[in-house]
Amino acid sequence: MTPDTSVEEYVAEATRRAAVVEGLPSDAPVREVRSVGIVGAGTMGGGIAMNFASAGLPVRLVERTDEALQRGLSVVRANYQRSADRGRFPAEEVDARMARIDGRLTVDDLADCDLVIEAVFEDMELKTSVFGELDRVVKPGAILATNTSGLDIDVIAAATRRPQDVIGLHFFSPANVMKLLEVVRADHTADDVVATAMALATTIGKVAVLVGVCPGFVGNRILAARSNQANAMVREGVMPWDIDDALRGFGFRMGPFQMSDLAGLDIGWSKGATTKNPIRDALCELGRRGQKTGAGYYDYDAERRPSPSQVTAGVIADVTGAEPRTMGAEEIVRRLIAPMINEAVAILEENHAQRPSDVDVVWLHGYGWPADKGGPMFYGDVIGAGEVLSAMEGLVRDDPRIRPADTLRRLAQDGGRFTELDLGGLKTRRTKGDPS
Ligand code: NAD
Repeated sequence: MTPDTSVEEYVAEATRRAAVVEGLPSDAPVREVRSVGIVGAGTMGGGIAMNFASAGLPVRLVERTDEALQRGLSVVRANYQRSADRGRFPAEEVDARMARIDGRLTVDDLADCDLVIEAVFEDMELKTSVFGELDRVVKPGAILATNTSGLDIDVIAAATRRPQDVIGLHFFSPANVMKLLEVVRADHTADDVVATAMALATTIGKVAVLVGVCPGFVGNRILAARSNQANAMVREGVMPWDIDDALRGFGFRMGPFQMSDLAGLDIGWSKGATTKNPIRDALCELGRRGQKTGAGYYDYDAERRPSPSQVTAGVIADVTGAEPRTMGAEEIVRRLIAPMINEAVAILEENHAQRPSDVDVVWLHGYGWPADKGGPMFYGDVIGAGEVLSAMEGLVRDDPRIRPADTLRRLAQDGGRFTELDLGGLKTRRTKGDPS
């Protein structure tokens, strides 16, 4: 990329490059995938099944109980029906696609699948037990994938006797709609498993980005950096709706608090729990668990239109003791975007992504980063490393745990560009420090 590359050219080139795996020839051997098994027919499992069934592949979908299975299948059918009603495909396609999804109640029935994707609850004990079972029953040479949002895939792989066949396939919600697929290479994942996953992504119409194992991988790790800062601002008395408004002004379709309300505030929360986010805990205790309960950070009307909530403002005042304060949209955006860019640089320093433009592709296709702003790395070059570092240093004054990445300091000093960073690409713990 040159300094005068347009944002459209940059995004097109970044998306094309994301499909290239360094060190793997473009004609690298792949494993044949003619049938897919999925464990868990919840929000993600059902959506993942739709991708393969829509692409013409037979799917076996496994649940624990018939009730959960029927619920999962009926959600899939309703989604297909809605698409047909909107004219996306002929009405008879609904039955044709459903006929490719075969519901089962035991993983024993996945023995002959070429690829199995696990999409059970985000719980390490459960996932390792499912992988132990899959290892026992699924034929040799099959690919065993997990849809974990951020658990250590090396630990999951170690529950099998075939870690070379284990990979992360991190779909985004709704999985039948969102374009992004993070393909997570673990320490022992074989090259042909990586190549197969990247090729399969094209078959099901996804944009795949190869990433490494770290908490939250690339996308959710950067999201966490943004959320931490958004929550810090609320603790200072800035209202959630002002933060969301500022990010919408930047070009996101929604801000972090609208996103939380949409996903449900009770994800990772249970009654009586005291988590790192006492405001959310208090809202949940009040029954304000997001859009689905008609209230969360926002109040919602019958059409699910949000409005600022006096109850939430009261909860924030009670929990934080902070006086409500206003902050300009520009300052809010500056404080939210700088930690994202900084986290992206840390990810590259730690060799969990192949290249800076891959980070941009993740955020463009998975998190609604505004296309005209090219992604966190592209935007970092627009505002300059010096500005990002100065915003980060402002945040360090309030929270000494925040750490500007060494490479950010170097870029700020040398006038270097984020999009041109070459910090060694993606490495596994196994290959790191390996002189070969
Ligand atoms: P969910 O609660 O909607 O569905 C999980 C399903 O797994 C349930 O239907 C449950 O009955 C089933 N299940 C549990 N144990 C099982 C077993 N032993 N055998 C068969 N089925 C079993 O959860 P979800 O939102 O679909 O999340 C699934 C996974 O995907 C989690 O690891 C989550 O972190 C990840 N993920 C979720 C999202 C999201 O936005 N929801 C996005 C990306 C990744």
